[in-house]
Amino acid sequence: MKKIAIVGLGLIGSSIAHAARRGHLANEIAGHDASADVLERARAIGFCDTLYSDIAEAVRDAELVILCAPVGAYKGIAKAIAPHLMQGAILSDVGSVKGAVVRDVGPHVPKGVHFIPAHPVAGTEFSGPEAGFASLFDGRWAILTPVPGSDLRAVDRLKDFWLGLGSQVDVMDSGHHDLVLAITSHLPHLIAYNIVGTAHDLEKVTEGEVIKYSASGFRDFTRIAASDPTMWRDVFLNNRDAVLEVLGRFNEDLSQLQRAVRNGDGPALFDRFTRTRAIRRAIIDIGQDTAAPNFGRLPFQLYVAPEPVAEKKRAKPKKKAPKKAAAVKKKSKVKKPARRAKSRR
Ligand code: NAP
Repeated sequence: MKKIAIVGLGLIGSSIAHAARRGHLANEIAGHDASADVLERARAIGFCDTLYSDIAEAVRDAELVILCAPVGAYKGIAKAIAPHLMQGAILSDVGSVKGAVVRDVGPHVPKGVHFIPAHPVAGTEFSGPEAGFASLFDGRWAILTPVPGSDLRAVDRLKDFWLGLGSQVDVMDSGHHDLVLAITSHLPHLIAYNIVGTAHDLEKVTEGEVIKYSASGFRDFTRIAASDPTMWRDVFLNNRDAVLEVLGRFNEDLSQLQRAVRNGDGPALFDRFTRTRAIRRAIIDIGQDTAAPNFGRLPFQLYVAPEPVAEKKRAKPKKKAPKKAAAVKKKSKVKKPARRAKSRR
């Protein structure tokens, strides 16, 4: 492609830029972010060829425009870019919910522009332009959710783009996507946010032991519960029905387990745990996780005393900038504001 435009240069947007450059997928990778600070940090890392503070300039003449901001911002972005999209361009996104994206963006898409929502099922608990890396999508699934009447050639072009980023690609309708992701992603996050919140309250009771002994299972929930609050607020606001449906099923199953524990029903517990173990094995068999102990993490040797709360608030997730930062054509004059200290954790 001659030009692709990425709107929102955080974890996912910057990873797309890195991977598109790795795969030589575009002559020009253009970037826009609402934040001058993020634009400046993106310029310093160098994963885009051109950076624009004006969103209209960013999307002009782009064959592919990908929205990579939080889902709650999509409606405003769609309104702002609609008059500037090129005829024949593909407008896509990476939002973790799809029904709400069709609802919010669909009405603003001009005739002659192909609107094909998408969702890469890949991510980390980190945010911001420093968090992105080229291999984020390797071997992961990207789900495309074309709308009724979507041009099949445009769908194929978008498929090829995601294959070029290293993904595997599936196509399904937006409603089905939202139900599947409600159980595989949204509910686990809700449970993690809840269990870590409950443990935090208990922490006061146990005088530090919850954190000290976290490696016994709790720690894996804390990784998920460290995910970006803005993004996850928008997910739950925009996939309410599917999340409530699977939450209902979850509560019923939890009640059954509660009964089995109360009644000392060993066979019921054993049967459930045997079935869940098989699911873990299946995930490893299809290459979506590693069989290495402890998720392949290095053994953690030292107990590091927690930072004072005030320090934690200022801390930023640290990721190394790629070694070869390509030259950035400065089409826009990005002001140099003081680097914003914002923790997403
Ligand atoms: P992120 O790291 O926080 O990046 C989002 C970026 O968008 C931020 O730089 C943000 O700026 C910017 N932004 C906010 N409003 C904007 C606007 N109106 N116009 C332009 N830029 C705007 O978030 P992310 O993790 O990359 O997530 C982005 C999207 O990917 C979300 O829709 C999410 O559902 C989806 N997704 C995330 C994951 C994951 O694991 N994180 C996985 C798959 C899909 P500020 O920081 O100034 O707000």
